Amino acid sequence: MSFKSDIEIAQEAKLEPIRDIAARIGLSEDDIEYYGKYKAKVDYNIMKRLENKKDAKLILTTAINPTPAGEGKTTTTVGLGDALRKLGKNAVIALREPSLGPVFGVKGGAAGGGYAQVVPMEDINLHFTGDLHAITAANNLLAAMVDNHIYQGNELGIDPRRVVWKRCIDMNDRQLRFVVDGLGGKANGVPREDGFDITVASEIMAVFCLATDLEDLKNRLSRIVVAYTYDGKPVTAGDLKAQGAMTALLKDAFKPNLVQTLEGTPAFVHGGPFANIAHGCNSIIATKMAMKLADYVVTEAGFGADLGAEKFLDIKCRFAGIRPNAVVIVATIRALKYNGGVPKEKLNEENLEALRKGLPNLLKHVENITVKFGLPAVVAINRFPTDTQAELDLVKEECKALGVNAVLSEVWAKGGEGGIDLAKEVLRIIDEGKNNYKPIYPLEMGIAEKIETIAREIYGADGVEFTAAAKREIETIEKIGFRNVPVCIAKTQYSLSDNPALLGRPTGFKITVRNVRISAGAGFAVALTGEIMTMPGLPKRPAAENIDVDENGRISGLF
Ligand code: ADP
Ligand code: MG
Repeated sequence: MSFKSDIEIAQEAKLEPIRDIAARIGLSEDDIEYYGKYKAKVDYNIMKRLENKKDAKLILTTAINPTPAGEGKTTTTVGLGDALRKLGKNAVIALREPSLGPVFGVKGGAAGGGYAQVVPMEDINLHFTGDLHAITAANNLLAAMVDNHIYQGNELGIDPRRVVWKRCIDMNDRQLRFVVDGLGGKANGVPREDGFDITVASEIMAVFCLATDLEDLKNRLSRIVVAYTYDGKPVTAGDLKAQGAMTALLKDAFKPNLVQTLEGTPAFVHGGPFANIAHGCNSIIATKMAMKLADYVVTEAGFGADLGAEKFLDIKCRFAGIRPNAVVIVATIRALKYNGGVPKEKLNEENLEALRKGLPNLLKHVENITVKFGLPAVVAINRFPTDTQAELDLVKEECKALGVNAVLSEVWAKGGEGGIDLAKEVLRIIDEGKNNYKPIYPLEMGIAEKIETIAREIYGADGVEFTAAAKREIETIEKIGFRNVPVCIAKTQYSLSDNPALLGRPTGFKITVRNVRISAGAGFAVALTGEIMTMPGLPKRPAAENIDVDENGRISGLF
């Protein structure tokens, strides 16, 4: 069997003018700014007008621990939005915007797949409306101001060895992880060891996605810690008077982007922080806007439910003052077999034994969402062409025993039509209203205790080992006034533990926290486990090698 590629499907689609998509959710031409025919930014000032409007029901899409290829959360989110519309509901979706790193690296695009995509997919995956460039510029303005301050006499007494603010670029480029800059003598800066992060790992991106309005954005930016003085005091962006100019660079980017799905469902695609050192969901402003304009909003959190959903529920929901009404846990037969120990190349072969071994991974995530967080859930089995009937039956059967329904989702192959059963089950659990949502830890807990709580409750760990450095850092962070912030754990997405090789549902393990740092602008403490990469590299055969453009400007090879 051969299938059309994502980009071929996307290019065949007949798009509606974005004006018509906007009109579908009550937005007039005055509310939107055109970026071509099919993309628009929506003015955040409409939020004042909609203040008293009832919020939509919020549906969160998350997943089991994934394989390296991604398991279809975005695809399912898009397809579920389309399916809800088919059932006559006013549904809108909210997604992250893609980074160029993965687009040219291993994973490819992030605009969904098959017949469940947001379009124009080439634009969304490449420069889109320039938000990532704006974020890069704001990040690098701050970096330039830090080094300039040191060069111009260093009034604040910044220790050049303790500048923690890095430069960034939206590209997978390992060559830039560690650099020495400021070379060339006295006139050319102060030499120091430096480095680059990928833009989506910049704290600016996290701040951008957590800010509730422009004022909040500016305040958060000013709180970002960029360096420490010789006597160990934090220096902030506010100390350098950078927050105003940075906000000016971001003010248009901060307007949520509106696009459409292949079936004409309005889709906000806005902000895209890493799901390890940051919280991995689209902007709060886009989610809240969507919730004012629709009756149902479907949104996605990155990676598996242990990372993305936990942060959505403990960080984003708290900051935004929202809560989901239902959670969709996406599982694929492939990823369950991978969790049962099957290597990536063999995932296309039927293997019931491995599937049985991998299933406890799903069970743990279901328990976390329903029992630990108290939310109604449905398992969506994202059907792949290689799944066999025996495999599907086994997963359905095992899920029944968990007390949640598992529904086959065929949105990749069939679009919204393939998600009708899933949409009906989502509506059913929302109407049933068994919602006892509570975050997993109270903010008043100490930082180490919060980390312990997540590790024990969500990962199923026996406990946490803190290195001496981590203990020291926690002490400092609490002393400088950040005891009551949520924690954002940076951990591998491939395992419930901090060891990517421990698949399925590992037990009898502890996680090791190497270090903890404060993202004061974002408003959370980051706990680092394992080797966490904030500047990825390209693989041996980067996806970029297959991307091309013909004489008419038509792109191929994006997937
Ligand atoms: P995630 O959001 O979980 O990272 P995506 O929805 O982006 O995953 O999907 C990852 C890739 O898998 C995409 O290229 C998509 O086209 C492909 N994919 C998703 N679902 C299916 C499916 N049911 N069958 C075949 N390919 C799929
Ligand atoms: Mg995704």
